[in-house]
Amino acid sequence: MNAERHVGDVGVLLGRERNVVAMEERIVIVGAGQAGGELAAGLRKQGYKGRVLLLGDEAHPPYQRPPLSKGFLQGKVALTDLYLKPLATYERFDIELKSGTRVEAIDRAAREVSLGDGSRLAYDKLVLATGGRARPLSLPGLEGARLENLFSVRSISDIEAMRGRFVPGNHLVIVGGGYVGLEVAAVAVQLGLRVTLLEAAPRLLSRVTGPEVSSFIEKLHRERGVELRLSCEVRSLELDEARRQVRGVGFACHGVPERLEADLVLVGIGLIPNTELASAAGLAVDNGIVVDEYACTADPNILAIGDCANQPSAYTGGRIRLESVPNAIEHARVAAATLMGKREPSSAIPWFWSDQYGLKLQMVGLSTGYEQCVTRSSAEGKEFSAFYLKDRRVIAADVIGRPAEFMAARRLVSSRAEVDAARLGDVAVPLASIAA
Ligand SMILES: Cc1cc2nc3c(=O)[nH]c(=O)nc-3n(C[C@H](O)[C@H](O)[C@H](O)COP(=O)(O)OP(=O)(O)OC[C@H]3O[C@@H](n4cnc5c(N)ncnc54)[C@H](O)[C@@H]3O)c2cc1C
Repeated sequence: MNAERHVGDVGVLLGRERNVVAMEERIVIVGAGQAGGELAAGLRKQGYKGRVLLLGDEAHPPYQRPPLSKGFLQGKVALTDLYLKPLATYERFDIELKSGTRVEAIDRAAREVSLGDGSRLAYDKLVLATGGRARPLSLPGLEGARLENLFSVRSISDIEAMRGRFVPGNHLVIVGGGYVGLEVAAVAVQLGLRVTLLEAAPRLLSRVTGPEVSSFIEKLHRERGVELRLSCEVRSLELDEARRQVRGVGFACHGVPERLEADLVLVGIGLIPNTELASAAGLAVDNGIVVDEYACTADPNILAIGDCANQPSAYTGGRIRLESVPNAIEHARVAAATLMGKREPSSAIPWFWSDQYGLKLQMVGLSTGYEQCVTRSSAEGKEFSAFYLKDRRVIAADVIGRPAEFMAARRLVSSRAEVDAARLGDVAVPLASIAA
């Protein structure tokens, strides 16, 4: 780091001893979410002595998002149980957490960020951990409408806004059959709502899993009363006269126009990474902020981590932008090492989990380009695993309702060892013996 530089109000002066300078260096983290929160704590755990400022535009300290569409929506998880760490921990770790603080711009030449209140803040190292926002429905006629019963799920405030309408008998129309839409569907039917889910593709989870798993999940939801409509493209929302409420959803199923009345509508059609700060500052953006294997952008003083970052992947050999808690934690670890002057690229294999109706779905690896899918299912068909093979090696696995098997599945994917597909598909053969 640059010892000669004058750093804002902490005044690093020429000629001071390096250790004193290090005490006064400051790392500014933009985005107090999963990745930002992990990084701030990780820096302290690694012995970082400078200032750590964690700026987040939400009203809360860093919190876990997975329970939002699961236990928190269901009312089974309390607000404070979402928090990654108790508030006192930030004080104990001397992390300057500034909630409700939005960063509006980066001045790379001055090494400063400007905040929503017009003030500026100097940094030595800046880490962008800005996550993403829910992709909105792009339909004609919605411009300027502020719709009180149209929701997405990204934040605590999203759930707080929709909770009052999660009452038995209400008809919820969900647009999008990805994990978030499916998790909300599961909670909603359990709370007594009528649920119709509209998915544009011919099967659920089509971007992330194989047809065998899609069929399993479709059956799971249909048996519990979710009305699943596949190959359905939403074309319009019918609004009330005041343009405050959605009254109905117009869509085409296999090209045939239909409409449904709705008490509330949830849109779960993916995430747009928050890259605008980076691109306005002239940093490369390509489906996420482009970083190297150490989480660094082309500006040596700016890093990016988590959902907003597009990073090289040792696992795929290409670039990847992941949206998962394990990725946010791993990426924060890589960035903390980089900021401590170490070089510790990630070799982690992507993994993810979801919970629906008390069933745990765990996914490891990426199935893109698989040649064969081998399934293992229990006699009752309540548990199910799918292994995706390429060149006789397991490149990815989806394990449903068998948490104990997931560790063995991870080992199979990470070892890249050749497997015998017949043994893999035989539930009588313990998975651990195949992974060994
Ligand atoms: C409903 C839901 C369910 C999920 N379920 C799972 C799951 O089961 N398993 C799993 O692995 N993952 C799950 N995820 C994904 C996981 O939560 C994310 O991958 C993870 O939160 C990413 O962490 P992050 O820090 O990169 O982004 P975030 O946690 O989104 O944090 C980014 C923060 O930056 C803030 N911010 C953005 N711009 C600015 C700015 N200019 N100034 C200040 N602050 C800013 C944002 O408001 C936000 O608070 C789920 C996500 C959602 C929304």
